[in-house]
Parts: sequence; C-alpha cells; structure tokens
Amino acid sequence: MNLLREAWIPILRRSGRREIIRPAQLLERMTEDPVVRLDAVRPDFNGALIQFFIGLLQTALTPAEPEDWEELFLKPPKMADLEKGLAVYAAAFELDGPGPRFFQDLELSSEEGTPIGSLLIEAPGANTIKNNADHFVKRNQIQQLCPACTATALLTLQTNAPSGGAGHRTSLRGGGPLTTIVLPQEPKFQTLWHTAWLNVLLKEDLSATQCKPSLKALQAIFPWMAATKLSKAAGTEVLGSHIHPAQTYWATPRRIRLFTASEEEGSCSICNAAGAKFYRQYATVPHGADYAEGILHPLSPYYDDKGVLRPVHPQPGGFTYRHWPDFVLAEGGGKERAIVVRLLGSRLRSGNTITDFAIHAFGYDMDNMKARCWYETRMPYFPLPDDDLRKHFVGYAMAMADAANDIASNTRKAVQSAFFDSGASVRGDLDFVKTEFWQGTESKYYDSLREVMKAVADPAPILRNWLKALQKFSLDLYDHYSEQIPLDEGKEAGMRKEDSMPRVVRARRDLLMFNRNKKFYEKLGISATAEGGKV
Ligand SMILES: [Zn+2]
Repeated sequence: MNLLREAWIPILRRSGRREIIRPAQLLERMTEDPVVRLDAVRPDFNGALIQFFIGLLQTALTPAEPEDWEELFLKPPKMADLEKGLAVYAAAFELDGPGPRFFQDLELSSEEGTPIGSLLIEAPGANTIKNNADHFVKRNQIQQLCPACTATALLTLQTNAPSGGAGHRTSLRGGGPLTTIVLPQEPKFQTLWHTAWLNVLLKEDLSATQCKPSLKALQAIFPWMAATKLSKAAGTEVLGSHIHPAQTYWATPRRIRLFTASEEEGSCSICNAAGAKFYRQYATVPHGADYAEGILHPLSPYYDDKGVLRPVHPQPGGFTYRHWPDFVLAEGGGKERAIVVRLLGSRLRSGNTITDFAIHAFGYDMDNMKARCWYETRMPYFPLPDDDLRKHFVGYAMAMADAANDIASNTRKAVQSAFFDSGASVRGDLDFVKTEFWQGTESKYYDSLREVMKAVADPAPILRNWLKALQKFSLDLYDHYSEQIPLDEGKEAGMRKEDSMPRVVRARRDLLMFNRNKKFYEKLGISATAEGGKV
C-alpha cells in the first residue's frame, strides 16, 4: 500500500459526511464541502495524523516568503498541484513491499514476531504481561489491524515513543511529548487545509529547529530511506546537524518492520473495517536512532533545565489555564512556547485579514513506559503586537494563574479538613475539588486577561477583581461540599474552646484566612484595599 496514492485517512467534511481519503484529497471540493477535520476512532491517532499533514506540507511546500504563505492560505492550491508536489516523495510512503517502508527499519529481518497490538502506546509491556498486571488494557485484545490502522499506529508510536525497555529509544521529544497546534478560528478558515497550513514554517524560520535546512538527501528528511543510524555505541546520537528540519516530523526512533499482511477472516480490531488483508505481527529490535538534545520540534513547548532545553510533557491532572502562559506566551525566562506559536507573527504580514486563532494542546501523560491518560484542550490565543506589552502582559497572566493555583490548593485542603480529622488517612482523591475550581474560574480568567490587555498600564482594578472572584469561588465551592457535614462532626467534649469549634466551621475560617493572605496581593502587585492603588 502506498500512503500517498491510496486512501487511508478518515476525515469529516463540513456537511458531516465521513470519508476515507488519500493525503492530497485534503484539497478536494474546497468550496462545496471541504474537509474540516480528522475523524479516526482514537484521539491519539487524530493527534498523530494532524502532525502527519503538517509534516507533509512542510516537507513538500515550505513557503519562501510570508507572501507565498499567505497566498496559499487565502487561496488554497489545486488538489492536482499538491498531488504533483507530493509524487516525488512516493517512494518514502510504501507501507509494505521490499525496500524502504514508511516509519520502518530498512534492513531489519527477524523470525521472532511481536503481536501487532504492541504498536499501541497503551499496550501492556512484556513485564506487565509476565506479572499479570494488565488490568487496564488486556493482552490479546488487538488481534489484527487493517493497513490504515497499522500505518496510523506506527506513525503514532514513532511520534510519541515512550521508553520501551533497554535500548528501545524514545521519540525525538522524549516519551509522550506535549504538542501544541495553532487553529484558525474564523469559520471560513476552519478546514483541515487551513489548520495544517497555519502550522507550516517559512523557509527562513526552519533553522529555529536547530536542524540543517541545507541538507538535500531524501534520507535527511525520511530516515527510513537509508540504513538506520544505530545507537548501541557511545557517541552515535543523531544531532540536529545530521538532519533536515522536516525530519522532526518523520523521526523514527524505534526499529520496526512489519510482517507481511495476510488474508484473514474477521475485521480490524481497532476500526472494525472488514477486508482481506490484516497485519498481525512485526519484528523489532533495540538501538534505533537516538535523537540528541538540542533539536527543537516545531510543535512543542520547551523548558530550560540547567542550560538544556527539554520538551514539555503533559502531567497528571491535564491542562488548565495555569498552563496557558507557558503554552501560548512564554518566551525567555526558562520557558519557550512552540516555534509555530512563537513565529506565527512572521507568517502573518501586517494588515492581513487572518486574525483569530486558538491553540490546541494534546498529548499523553506517561508514567515511564505506561500511558496513564490522554489529555487535550483548546486555549485562546491573543495576538500581542509589541514586545513591551508582551513583557508586562505575560507577568500578569502568570501571576493571575499562580494565585488561582494556590487558592485551588487551599480549597481542596479546606474540604479535606472539613470532612476528616487532621492526621486521618484519607481514602479516595479530592482532586476533583481543584478540577472544579479550575473549570469554574476559567472563562473569568480569559475575560480578565482581555481587560488587562486593554489596560496594561494600570491593571490594578482588574487584578483586584480577579482575586475577589477567586476568593468568592473558593468559598462557594467549600460551602457546596461542606453543607452536608453536621456541625457536631469532629467536635469533642473537654477540649479547649478553640479546638471545640466544629471542624467544618474551623476549616471555613482557615480557608478565609488563607485566601486573604497578603502574599496574593503582593504576587499581583496590588494593595489589599481598593483605595491603595499599587503597592
Ligand atoms: Zn482498522
């Protein structure tokens, strides 16, 4: 199967019609019924497929100037032209057959087969099966995969690869990276073409990846076009200077080669498609390409760890607006938003008509080899015209989220103190209180930021209102959960007067005190009284 010539990608058109397309059909029927989004059965597949499209356009159509980028955004190319542009790469997109194969090792041959279900990120590892610990994802649940699901699973694994035991390399961004994509928000631009094209970098911006744009060989882009660069010996890492920037989308850390698909009864274990041929096994060995630190993937935020920029990975609890400044605004100071977000301005010429964006953030929360959870969220994007405004605005956005983080924790603690004696071992997780806090204050956060943007010279009244809103929401949430607790709970005879206060009252008093702590006012740079102005 050739993944450029044949249809394998599930999509949804504006009319709601579901279809399976080949890549160039992304531009089919743009005026009548455009492709609006991907429609795979798994969210991690959709996350990998959008990166596939961005990578494909970045590889084949890198625009030289902002004018070129804008022209294709406003007036998408003809499908036939894209088809022609992609045809030169057809050899890199074979899923099977002899020679180079999509995201597979060129030379690997092995008698020993691994079950095809192990391509899936959440598949239990060998140890889990040995220890009988595969409660969450059962072994043998995946028997066989259709070619489309096999190709997508391979793409998803190589893009997110967690550590897979000794010598099994992680993805170019480590195990389970966070991906952030810019989304067009104007209804007329909400198509898959516009989404993918919005994230394609200009030629002059490619060097921001710390890779080498001047490399011309096909294997500098698609590593599987040549023998794998093995990583058994020391000093064999793949450096930025070894690869073309587009390889960030085609990085292949795992050595895998599919066993030939065979005629089988039944249907695909993931998408249920019936068909004659299914993949059931693949060969894999360790010591594939080991991508060095220093390569910057265009779609991921990074943070400074003692002088080394490391990719951000989703953490337990998922995304809230406390991540918003890091994902959308951060620049310098130890945090860097993704290159596509940072350099959005260089693609947009001043005076253009494309102005409304959002950020789509997604990724796995991995516990080493184990996938704990898949998270995704959409966040607003505010264009900030000048650097001076940015500096102040970022500071306020961070301080506001910081205050919310502390008050969310206080609220959770207070609910716990209301229900349980201090020192009692608490069964169950009260983190839902925090989640509710984040969700309940989210729209107020973004609304307040919009106001701050307009009044960045003197945002004190807005910041004071923000703090008041947090304090009020915190108390309301506490009251909501604690109203079911009888007043005599936790009140014991013979104690000092202070201690004999009902637990639920004491916890409320403490919460009020915590939330009015002067550190919040200091953090936001405001005085505790409305009249005081700035501190
Ligand atoms: Zn399938």
